[in-house]
Amino acid sequence: KLRFEGVHKSFHTRRGEVTALSPIDLTVYQGDFIALVGPSGCGKSTLLMIAAGLEAASGGTVLADGAPMREPGPDRCVVFQRFALFPTKTVTGNVEYGLRMTGVPKAERRERVRETLGMVGLSAFADAYPHELSGGMQQRAALARSIVMRPDVLLMDEPFGALDAQTRIIMQEEIARIARDLGLTVLLVTHSVEEAVYLCNRIIVLTARPGAIKHEFTVDDDWSHHSVDEAMAQPGFGS
Ligand code: ATP
Ligand code: MG
Repeated sequence: KLRFEGVHKSFHTRRGEVTALSPIDLTVYQGDFIALVGPSGCGKSTLLMIAAGLEAASGGTVLADGAPMREPGPDRCVVFQRFALFPTKTVTGNVEYGLRMTGVPKAERRERVRETLGMVGLSAFADAYPHELSGGMQQRAALARSIVMRPDVLLMDEPFGALDAQTRIIMQEEIARIARDLGLTVLLVTHSVEEAVYLCNRIIVLTARPGAIKHEFTVDDDWSHHSVDEAMAQPGFGS
């Protein structure tokens, strides 16, 4: 589905060359829900931006369905920590935007927006502007804007980071349900091991900068019997 082969990244700064990411080899399979965890500055966001095609790798190859990937496209959608909705567009306008850009006819657009807003529980707010919504609602709108495109891979960078604890739990449940219903493939950056264990089938732990894959865990059905504390005690966590 999505394959990173020796993908690494350096930034040229005034203080010289900064290596953000050591070579990464990673294969994302159809239906995977992968968590990327690791210390601040280890290159998680950088890896996500490369996956989205919004940032070029310094070396290595990213393959999407076996073909080298270049341009960003509607097949890969990013949801950021801060919602980045268009402030002058209504919820419908925001969610509809990508469909308009890709030339989906109006009638179909309306239908897909309606259906997607239903999925994230925002039907009643179709005509509201972002500033009229709570943080959690804005995050739902941002999520709707991504999933309406039926992305091959949904990329999320700490999507719940700006939410209060209760809203976060509701959003996590929502995401889990939507990902299951739509069979989404998801790459999620998170600081929360609890969140990773709850949502994901694979957890990738990166080392401190420059990030390299330190450990990978598979969260199989057995893990439902394990506690987060047990997960944290595994080598690679808690450091
Ligand atoms: P956090 O958990 O704090 O969000 P992160 O794992 O997402 O961190 P990145 O944002 O990917 O980390 O950054 C990785 C490293 O690359 C950091 O050391 C950062 O300073 C550096 N970096 C990121 N973007 C740039 C840039 N545009 N120019 C220079 N250095 C950058
Ligand atoms: Mg980041």
